[in-house]
Amino acid sequence: MSTGKINVQTENIFPIIKKFLYSDHEIFLRELISNAVDATQKLKTLSAIGEAKGDFSDIKVEVIIDKEAKTLTIRDKGIGMTAEEIEKYITQIAFSGAEEFVNKYKDKTPEANAIIGHFGLGFYSGFMVAKKIEIVSLSHKEGSQAVHWECDGSPEYKIEETTKTGRGTDIILHIAEDSEEFLEKERIDHLLMKYCKFLPVEIKFGTRKEGEKDKEVEVDNIINNPSPAWTKKPADLKDEDYKNFYRELYPMNFEDPLFHIHLNVDYPFNLTGILYFPRIKKTFEAQKDRIQLYCNQVFVTDSVENIVPDFLSLLQGVIDSPDIPLNVSRSYLQSDSNVKKISAHITKKVADKLEEIFKKDRADFESKWEDIKIFVQYGMLSEEKFYEKAQKFALLKSTDGKYSTLEEYAEKVKIAQTDKDKKVIYLYTTNIDEQHSFIETAKDRGYDVIVFDSPIDSHYINQLESKLQNTSFVRVDADVIDKIIKKEEDQPSKLSEEEQKKLKPLVEETISKEKFTVVFESLSEKDAPMLITKPEFMRRMKDMSAMGGGGMAFYGSMPEMHNLVVNSNHPLISKILNEKNVEKQKQLTKQTADLAMLSQGLLKGEELTKFIKRSVDLID
Ligand code: ADP
Repeated sequence: MSTGKINVQTENIFPIIKKFLYSDHEIFLRELISNAVDATQKLKTLSAIGEAKGDFSDIKVEVIIDKEAKTLTIRDKGIGMTAEEIEKYITQIAFSGAEEFVNKYKDKTPEANAIIGHFGLGFYSGFMVAKKIEIVSLSHKEGSQAVHWECDGSPEYKIEETTKTGRGTDIILHIAEDSEEFLEKERIDHLLMKYCKFLPVEIKFGTRKEGEKDKEVEVDNIINNPSPAWTKKPADLKDEDYKNFYRELYPMNFEDPLFHIHLNVDYPFNLTGILYFPRIKKTFEAQKDRIQLYCNQVFVTDSVENIVPDFLSLLQGVIDSPDIPLNVSRSYLQSDSNVKKISAHITKKVADKLEEIFKKDRADFESKWEDIKIFVQYGMLSEEKFYEKAQKFALLKSTDGKYSTLEEYAEKVKIAQTDKDKKVIYLYTTNIDEQHSFIETAKDRGYDVIVFDSPIDSHYINQLESKLQNTSFVRVDADVIDKIIKKEEDQPSKLSEEEQKKLKPLVEETISKEKFTVVFESLSEKDAPMLITKPEFMRRMKDMSAMGGGGMAFYGSMPEMHNLVVNSNHPLISKILNEKNVEKQKQLTKQTADLAMLSQGLLKGEELTKFIKRSVDLID
């Protein structure tokens, strides 16, 4: 037997390790199991090149709880370590790694925790939960002597010869009083599911029964899937396999994804993975089944914010890459060139896939459009590169349910909807029911109306407007249709300015001045005598401010403004003007204005009751 002293520069690092990793204590299990898996993989490699001999049939990693002894053991049948190797790898190299880490982060705020969790502190992270750690190891090298190493968290350690049948390493954690949760089967089950679900070596888990100290512990079935779908070749997988993997990944999600993308890159960085398109609801609900990031099949995190562009975080699935630096801060990640490339690559792949589906089966693509539309628009808004690709397959839906690409749509409305100034006007509605009468009037003129009814649409409209040349978007109820798409100069008004001045106060009396502005327009006699419109600019600014657009707060605080348009060419307006009986004149004005309100669903409460009574009186 010999003892040694770990060469400590920092006072005692173990209390620091323990304190520091507080919020992420559970990571120790991932680290130790990863080491066991690595040792196993190394052995497989050696055997493949003929440098290791022996029986590799039952190669697996076992996790064993012993409640009586208060230990948690991680056992592998990997390459094992000789005494010299333990001295070198555990007490020198690993320790200096741990020490360096502590020096670097001990004065940082808890925000650093996110980094720490991904740092891969390795072997010494066991001291977050253990008061003593033992290593029992037998190297694969022929004629090796088994060794026993033990350390109680002080810089001193003990190393001696021991007996061990079978190659590999046992890491025995003597769980500290404040960490006894890690002796609970459920807790470990949960952690294994979280971190080890797709590890490349079989993992088994067992609990030593009370009083069976000397018996072999029975381990359960394999708890992981060592060859998950993303590690296979796309050619070897059927659609059903991808769906099954989705269920494996998100067992609590019962909806099938819309489609998948298999990622496979080996230059200039390594990346594999499968991304799924879920059905995305109109509202941005907090997503629980998020993209999971793996590093060589070891689960790292499901917050991938800085690794994939924001709009892709609506997707689901896995990304596995050893090239994503995990031991750096989040802000650094964003500027890392590998990460940037990865992000750009994924964006491109997603756009390519969408285009492929669009080209291959347009009907299928259209049937999925409502589910992916928010995603596509979000992408077009946030990534220029994505916009360029997506403009080929992004669809516009008309009120009659027909879909067109941007190019097709431009062609469709080019002739009919060009105004006298050669500008093309795209009409849209945000609510087919509420804006029904306006939509109908537009259709009567042979115009088409696009449906834009999701919260993101107001931003999307702005973007399209800035991209498409000579094109304006106007909501159908922004004005009278012939004013929105002005084909010719205004008709001469039948009312003189004098007459308009006389009539205006009369109309204003019947409505709330804070909400309505009275304007005279010379429309066709066939149009309504009065109608209510919502000027495009004001309404858009209000919509933007409601969505939290920067600098738009001012508009948000303005009251909702409508125009009450008086059709100065309508015979009824002339009739009102010429009415000698003042009471009758007021009644007619009010009735006409109320009708305009009614058609917009703005007539409510007492006003509506009065309107009905007045109508009955008028019929009498
Ligand atoms: P890392 O895994 O990041 O190298 P660790 O502190 O986890 O750092 O481990 C240090 C070294 O100890 C490993 O690189 C490996 O050589 C050795 N080691 C740790 N655990 C095992 C094991 N179960 N079997 C064989 N070698 C191991």
